[in-house]
Amino acid sequence: MKPHEQFSRVSERLEEYREEMVSLQRELVSRVAVGPDQGGPGEGEKALFLKDLLTGWGLTVDDYPAPDPRVAGGERPNLVAFLPGARPEKVWVLSHLDVVPPGDLKLWDSDPYTLQVAGDRLIGRGTEDDHHGIVASLMAVKALLDLGVTPSRTVGLALVSDEETGSGKGLDFLLKTQPHLFSSRDLIIVPDAGSPDSTLIEVAEKSILWLRLTLLGQQCHASRPQMGRNTLRAAAHVIVALEELHREFDLKNPLFDPPESTFEPTQKEANVENINTIPGRDVFYLDCRVLPDYSLEQVMARVAELARETARQFGVELNMEVVQELRSPPATDPDSPVVKALVAAIRRVYGREARPQGIGGGTVAAFFRQQHLPVAVWMTVSHTAHQPNEFCLLSNLVGDARVLAHVFLAEE
Ligand SMILES: [Zn+2]
Repeated sequence: MKPHEQFSRVSERLEEYREEMVSLQRELVSRVAVGPDQGGPGEGEKALFLKDLLTGWGLTVDDYPAPDPRVAGGERPNLVAFLPGARPEKVWVLSHLDVVPPGDLKLWDSDPYTLQVAGDRLIGRGTEDDHHGIVASLMAVKALLDLGVTPSRTVGLALVSDEETGSGKGLDFLLKTQPHLFSSRDLIIVPDAGSPDSTLIEVAEKSILWLRLTLLGQQCHASRPQMGRNTLRAAAHVIVALEELHREFDLKNPLFDPPESTFEPTQKEANVENINTIPGRDVFYLDCRVLPDYSLEQVMARVAELARETARQFGVELNMEVVQELRSPPATDPDSPVVKALVAAIRRVYGREARPQGIGGGTVAAFFRQQHLPVAVWMTVSHTAHQPNEFCLLSNLVGDARVLAHVFLAEE
């Protein structure tokens, strides 16, 4: 059978799995997999269910659990299963088992852990983030198995823990302890983010830098400002002075939207409780998303200089602390085989031109990129992850399973 005939048959078969996709979502939603960092029981129950399911399909499933005494059993699961292909080179789909807590239950129209079906919508905690990735990849594999079709490359399914709270017990652990699993010749797809029209393939991210700026002056009565040193006025001038960052770090990269580095003052801690007191202490935060071209040391040095110089003009002392610092790993080449395979598959299934793009930072794919492994983050989303009444669309599950199947069958 020619590859395009194979794809047509697999594609038709996936259409028949609609009910199965709904019931798989129902099973996954009912197994609470909130990590212990967020007060949950961990991913054990969900992993056991999926391991049984895949084993029942005839696949061998390995677990590379990360020790974690906070959960029952003392381990966080990381499952890996293979569907052998015509060639030993792999195409990986990595999804995550954990979900975030439901948040305020009053904002939900139904129980977050009981799947609701409303037309095309499958509603429940985790349906989009990241059951969408799990269901689409598993169903694509099942279609090949049921039809007895051998994929071109060996398909690797990775189902990892701890994506929502840093990946220390998930992908980061797997890459550190089982580096032999992944190769730079593999295609790696992470279905965990994307756009509603299926065209966003994420290949790069900006570095993240969060800074806390504390201004220390002298509190006094507002009627006699000469007795004090007003930190709120100084903070306002410091924020304006920091606009200079946009002029100094002005490189643009069209992969990103927006294409330039961003420097946003965000949170402002409360200062005095009454109107007639001049504040002597103010704290605000700066959220910087920096293009990979710049080092974060360069940025930190300039923020400190600009802010201190300005604060000094008001007789105010300034302290700067780093709250978070995440250096962007090297971008995935926009012309790499994984991107090309996805672009071709999305064109065939959705009839749209997808394009590789960068985002503001902080995806699990960064762990692959740090190891120089070519990874593309892609799926079709409804942008409801982490929200109350989270949902995914069944039609997108079918479509994305087809895209993944197309990649599995592609000659290259
Ligand atoms: Zn996710």
